[in-house]
Amino acid sequence: MRYSKVLIPTLKENPSDAEVVSHRLLLRAGFIRKLTSGVYNYLPLGLAAIRKVERIVREEMNRAGAQELLMPMVQPADLWKESGRWEQYGPELLRFTDRHEHESCLGPTHEEVITDLVRREVHSYRDLPLNLYQIQTKFRDEIRPRFGLMRGREFVMKDAYSFDASDQDADVSYQAMRDAYHRIFSRCGLSFRAVEADTGSIGGSFSHEFMVLAATGEDTLVICQACSYAANMEKARVRPPAGGGDEPVLLALERVETPGKRKVEAVTEFLGISPQQLVKTMVYLVDGRLVAVLVRGDHEVQPVKLKNLLGAVEVELADDDRVFAVTGVPTGYLGPQGLAIEVVADQEVMAMRNFVIGANEKNFHLKNANVGRDFSVAQSADLRQVTEQDRCAVCGGQLELTRGIEVGHIFKLGDKYSRAMQATFQDSEGVEQPFVMGCYGIGVSRVVAAAIEQNHDEHGIIFPLPIAPVQVVILPLGAKEAAITTAAETLYEELGRQGIEVMLDDRDERPGVKFKDADLIGVPYRVTIGKRFVQEGLIECRRRRDGQTETLPMTGAAEHLAGLIRAELAALAVPGRV
Ligand code: ATP
Ligand code: MG
Repeated sequence: MRYSKVLIPTLKENPSDAEVVSHRLLLRAGFIRKLTSGVYNYLPLGLAAIRKVERIVREEMNRAGAQELLMPMVQPADLWKESGRWEQYGPELLRFTDRHEHESCLGPTHEEVITDLVRREVHSYRDLPLNLYQIQTKFRDEIRPRFGLMRGREFVMKDAYSFDASDQDADVSYQAMRDAYHRIFSRCGLSFRAVEADTGSIGGSFSHEFMVLAATGEDTLVICQACSYAANMEKARVRPPAGGGDEPVLLALERVETPGKRKVEAVTEFLGISPQQLVKTMVYLVDGRLVAVLVRGDHEVQPVKLKNLLGAVEVELADDDRVFAVTGVPTGYLGPQGLAIEVVADQEVMAMRNFVIGANEKNFHLKNANVGRDFSVAQSADLRQVTEQDRCAVCGGQLELTRGIEVGHIFKLGDKYSRAMQATFQDSEGVEQPFVMGCYGIGVSRVVAAAIEQNHDEHGIIFPLPIAPVQVVILPLGAKEAAITTAAETLYEELGRQGIEVMLDDRDERPGVKFKDADLIGVPYRVTIGKRFVQEGLIECRRRRDGQTETLPMTGAAEHLAGLIRAELAALAVPGRV
């Protein structure tokens, strides 16, 4: 690859509409260009990085026994009606009607299409297990497409689907994918963690997310310092409150004036109590109806836990006007006593005694409230967000909260789709059984963005070697000197022969410009050929990641560099199970 022949439209300035570093750098390094909201052109270097990730994914999926196929992007509504997701999926599913009045959608995921294919083509337990995958463009009409490749509307995904004859066999398939994912992200050179995750609208019985660790990640992960427990915030279990001890005397309920005090801090400060002695009443819009959720003053509701408890499709915080219209109580003074809507409580609240709640009246709260005596709740469960003050739900160890980016998600689906869509096979006794399924996604284009979030500095991208669009860039400094140009051409050819992905910066540019661009596009190794070569036959090789620099004789340089690269790649390949 010759720099002068490739479209690499680098930018000197930071694009104003890019909020996160990967978005900024992908634009500045000339990897992507926006077409419209959440939809990007992948330019040559951007595509090269995506292809590198795809290649690793493909190799490891094939090694795990999965077979590649390619399904259509346009999907008929009928299949989605069969699975029940036509109604359930929400506005992210881009729906349209074609000229024959057939309802269709653009595939955000392919459970329906693959289940339809397999129910038509696979009939016997003898054909199982089966794992089929594709690497394909997905479309999700995200409400807030943002951060470049991180959350696009159109993006590249690897999606795989497994079909098994029994639950135990499905667990084996799931474990094989889990292992393959560990190999994939290790081979990509990323620092990552697998965490327990919620199953969301895809449904199913259990699931793990693979998170690239990065301070800028959108997701919060909870990691136990003592055992192997790790979960995302939506799923992270809270230990039930410790019971036992002396039951305090229930004090008489007391109405107190709290003028203008609406926020937890204001009320507790005014009353001289701690937030642990107050229960706040949060109102959520749950599939169109209002539900009040009680949590302790210093805790936050976890909406996904609420959604799961109520078996709801959509849960969001209700706006103040709506709450006022239904309850007649201004925000800040809501409480569970006599409230006209359903009340559910976090498990912690059930163990509290003599606490403060809103009085359902402007400027008033109630002291010494108690569940059961003063109000009742329809249900209680673990409904709140874990905090760093909590202990691990499994072993009681110290928890750490850290940020990550979801790059992969695996689900054990069970028979959710096969039952709904009547996808069955004949078992060894000749009885029709629904397939036991799993599904496994990787956000291929997001992996590139996540790699940059995790690996960059003020000069630009620091690509992990395995997914860098080019591995080595050669900078001849002093383009007018024939000896330098010739040496650069020779090294370029030799590295190419060694199977190294190399770019020759043959542009007639000042050294400063070449250095800057090489750093910006994040090439892992940079070789400079300049004055020292003319004088002493020496060239300089610098590693982007840590700036480590070696001066080498030109003779044997290609073999040496190729050896380094091969060793570095080999060290990232992890064998076997996790
Ligand atoms: P998120 O929670 O980030 O919206 P998701 O849980 O909806 O993602 P899955 O259905 O699990 O996503 O899709 C599989 C993978 O596809 C995700 O792990 C993620 O890496 C990637 N992905 C999902 N949505 C997007 C998007 N809008 N842009 C880029 N990649 C995405
Ligand atoms: Mg997911």
